[in-house]
Amino acid sequence: MVQDLEKRDIRKLKLDELKAFFVEHGEKPFRAQQVYEWLWQKSAKDFDQMTNLSLPVREMLRTHFVINHIRVDKMQRSEDGTIKNAVMLHDGMIVESVLIPTEKRITACVSSQVGCSLACKFCATARLKRMRNLNPDEIYDQVVAIKEQAELFFNRPLTNIVFMGMGEPLLNYNNVLEAINKITDPKGLAMASKRITVSTVGVAKMIKKIADDGVKFNLAVSLHSAIDKTRSSIMPINDSTPLEELGDALRHWYAKTKKKVTYEYVVWKGINDKEEDARALLKFAKIIPSKVNLIEYNSIDDPTFQQASQESLRMYQEILESNGITARVRISRGKDIDAACGQLANK
Ligand code: SAH
Repeated sequence: MVQDLEKRDIRKLKLDELKAFFVEHGEKPFRAQQVYEWLWQKSAKDFDQMTNLSLPVREMLRTHFVINHIRVDKMQRSEDGTIKNAVMLHDGMIVESVLIPTEKRITACVSSQVGCSLACKFCATARLKRMRNLNPDEIYDQVVAIKEQAELFFNRPLTNIVFMGMGEPLLNYNNVLEAINKITDPKGLAMASKRITVSTVGVAKMIKKIADDGVKFNLAVSLHSAIDKTRSSIMPINDSTPLEELGDALRHWYAKTKKKVTYEYVVWKGINDKEEDARALLKFAKIIPSKVNLIEYNSIDDPTFQQASQESLRMYQEILESNGITARVRISRGKDIDAACGQLANK
């Protein structure tokens, strides 16, 4: 018997490789198709679920492979209906994912890395060291788990997916893309790309790359300030990728994809709550077609950061909207269980 550690993660194999495996082991190649369906379309967690395979075939698979399925280790429910999952990975590491129900949508907010390397000063995840990238199947499984919860607890389908959990998706791009390909594949979850949003701190080089790749998902950029000095003081990424470079990458994005970008923006007292901040945002927001989500600050117990006043938010909205930029104030969900934006920290 081969040790578990030596067994291969079966979901790392492409369909062709799985076919080759079956042929090599004296089986018909169509078995691969069946297994592939179990693995992706039906999210099987165990070979024993594959009931259209004979027992010896299942046993043969078990001696060679493992299914490294995630496990929802702990589930918390907010009074507003939001569900936060602590998700245990095969190596014992934990990430969090969130189900956000609204009247029209059920959104899955998923993680792309264990921890994060970006050190944004206002974000709780930044306090966790980046340990590793998630594999495509680990990202896919988070979506499946939330899809099942949507059906079980709300009797509704999952409608949207946002890569706004832990980690920076564009620093784990290949795996994120592979997961998205499976999520949108008719042989996977068959969800529409336009229902998927990838949120980035603004890795300019990667924004250009995804534009060149012609991706079909939506892009959100966590901007928080359109003034270099301010942005650098709260988001270290801005030192290596200043706003001008980010703007260039976004021009490239629009030229290639013809898709609007969404800016995520928190307004903090004394940091970016002046008219000049809003005017700078307006100027930046006009670089390519865009809209702005003014998101509520979720406290992470650092006195430097305080939610700005309602007046400041109105000032922002007025300046943006009167100049043709849609700006919506987004109320946080799941704050009571630390499930809101920026609060995911495996507490
Ligand atoms: N690394 C990606 C994905 C994380 S998305 C990114 O930066 O976009 C999480 C979103 O929540 C980002 O827009 C982030 O800037 C925002 N955020 C982080 N901390 C927050 C906080 N304390 N309150 C509100 N939003 C926060």
